[in-house]
Amino acid sequence: MTENNNQNKSPFSKGKNGNNMIKPPKFNAYWIYGLIAVAFIALNLLDLGQSPKETSWQKVKNEMIRNQDVDRIVVIRNLLEVNVYLREESLDKYPDLFESSFDSPSKSGPHYTFPIGTVEQFAQQLEKAQEKISEYDRIEPEYTTQENPFGDFIMWILPFALIIGIWFYVFRRMSRGAGGGGGGGNIFNVGKSKAKVFDKESNINVNFNDVAGLAEAKQEVEEIVEFLKHPQRYTKLGGKIPKGALLVGPPGTGKTLLAKAVAGEANVPFFSMSGSDFVEMFVGVGASRVRDLFKQAKEKAPCIVFIDEIDAIGRARGKNPNMGSNDERENTLNQLLTEMDGFDTNSGVIILAATNRADILDRALMRAGRFDRQIHVELPDLNERREIFNVHLKPLKLDPKIDQEFLAKQTPGFSGADIANVCNEAALIAARKKKDIIEKQDFLDAIDRIIGGLEKKNKIISLEEKKTIAFHEAGHATISWLLEHAHPLVKVTIVPRGKALGAAWYLPEERSITTKEQMLDEMCSTLGGRAAEEITFGKVSTGAQNDLEKVTKQAIAMVSIFGMSDKVGNVSYYDSSGQSDYSFSKPYSEKTAELIDQEVKTLIENSYERAKQVLRDNEEGHNKLAELLLEREVIFSEDLEEIFGKRNFGKEQEVEEKKIVPPTTEGDNESKAV
Ligand code: ATP
Repeated sequence: MTENNNQNKSPFSKGKNGNNMIKPPKFNAYWIYGLIAVAFIALNLLDLGQSPKETSWQKVKNEMIRNQDVDRIVVIRNLLEVNVYLREESLDKYPDLFESSFDSPSKSGPHYTFPIGTVEQFAQQLEKAQEKISEYDRIEPEYTTQENPFGDFIMWILPFALIIGIWFYVFRRMSRGAGGGGGGGNIFNVGKSKAKVFDKESNINVNFNDVAGLAEAKQEVEEIVEFLKHPQRYTKLGGKIPKGALLVGPPGTGKTLLAKAVAGEANVPFFSMSGSDFVEMFVGVGASRVRDLFKQAKEKAPCIVFIDEIDAIGRARGKNPNMGSNDERENTLNQLLTEMDGFDTNSGVIILAATNRADILDRALMRAGRFDRQIHVELPDLNERREIFNVHLKPLKLDPKIDQEFLAKQTPGFSGADIANVCNEAALIAARKKKDIIEKQDFLDAIDRIIGGLEKKNKIISLEEKKTIAFHEAGHATISWLLEHAHPLVKVTIVPRGKALGAAWYLPEERSITTKEQMLDEMCSTLGGRAAEEITFGKVSTGAQNDLEKVTKQAIAMVSIFGMSDKVGNVSYYDSSGQSDYSFSKPYSEKTAELIDQEVKTLIENSYERAKQVLRDNEEGHNKLAELLLEREVIFSEDLEEIFGKRNFGKEQEVEEKKIVPPTTEGDNESKAV
């Protein structure tokens, strides 16, 4: 669409047969503005010759009145101005009248004008000035008020014109950019849905082969495509076609991609829009857009409607109607609920929606009959990551030695989008180094860059700071190596990256539940940095701020969400439904709040003491590691193995991955809270 617009803007565009032809310029609204401006300037210029010259009362009194050149004096009351009309025969005495005008001054006048303070004051001044003039020759001032019908009209019409102009502008902007199904630039299309329609003609070249992993999710949506293609296969057994499916999962896991693949595979029209497209600042627009979307969809049934980021409108309706601000969104949601399973059922319209936040969605939206199916799209596991790498490595020129399995192992916790990004970054890094193929190291650099940010080798760091950072990072590394449940370490670096001055990189185990021991060991290794600073230098620095924040959040979660404190007990104050108003009031008493605070503090203090103890017990190894870090800047797990020996707590240290089916609630909560 944009391209077309750009082409239109060019005065020279190619004709169908490829010849250059000159198009007559198109008429547009700016022409009118231009014409008005030109007319205004012309009027002003023409008017110049006629308008009276500015002068002062002194000049009028001392020259014009004294010489009896004045014919009339007109006081304009409302403008507090006086116009002076000279006698025709005296005009020649005033050469300045002839200076700037295009023609000679008008004989009738007014010839001069000057401002006055008040009308009464001027009357007195005039009388005084003419004291010595005979009564017969005296000039009596005339009084008048000057009407400016054009100015008055402008002043009257301007506010209306402004309001209407702004109104038009806002509406035009609102209704602009609607592709496919509706909108256009017409202001009366504000209430029309902004859905993009894809049908047989529009080429969507995404299909299920482009979606790697997600086997269960794929199967579910494939079934929807089947429903639409062969409905009788299901209806003949008495089954009903599902109304909708909700794709739920963390960002970048491929929900939109899955929906696009459905559009590519199903040979039915596909309406796509985002939840925020319904939302507008005008009341009633959202609901009307929902109505219009379903009207269009019903006309094209069987078809699929896809609403991305549905939480923009599907958020749970408030309990407090007096707050008012969410009325418009609630109206939109109500309309959506009615359309999805109202009196007027839609046959053959299947609704797919995607969200990262199923927990905040309105329960009415989630019930069977509206979204019959909830399809969880989770972060990919090892096997899925390998498959996603396969998809994204295909278009790249690779070193044949590259092993997808290895890359998948290096990227735990990465989403599909992250993996796509790693592949792209690796290609860019290789290109920067002017290589012909992308090598393993490029991928590792890309992963480091995505986790830690850009390497800043030239950042100015004093020697003392560097020493602190080295001991800090060595503290993390030592403890995580020595504690059984801490994440296995991959490498430690003191090269600044992003905002961090140094970093220890771990390869987290992929697990679906986390035990208290694991959490405590992780807290201990996180506090290892600060503990190392205190033990080595006897003073602490701000470098541990990030660690402290992490540990505090972890401790709060342990006490108030996972029920891991003996004193607080097996209670969880986490609200997974997101429906309670905990932001205003806490679900526990002041006394419990104090207890939680105490327990959080105790947990952190104990972990800190433990960290210090571990470091004291292994002081030699820790110092050696720090020295090595200062020397080399980056060290790997092999170096730690050399210093501390093999890390083998009676089990093989390899990332053993089992397929996680189905995801447990504990796993869910852990990932959110920590
Ligand atoms: P959000 O919730 O933030 O909108 P999303 O789940 O809709 O995210 P997508 O937009 O579908 O994420 O994914 C972004 C990109 O990540 C895709 O364009 C694709 O390149 C890549 N990607 C994600 N998951 C997969 C997958 N399973 N297979 C292949 N590529 C994937």
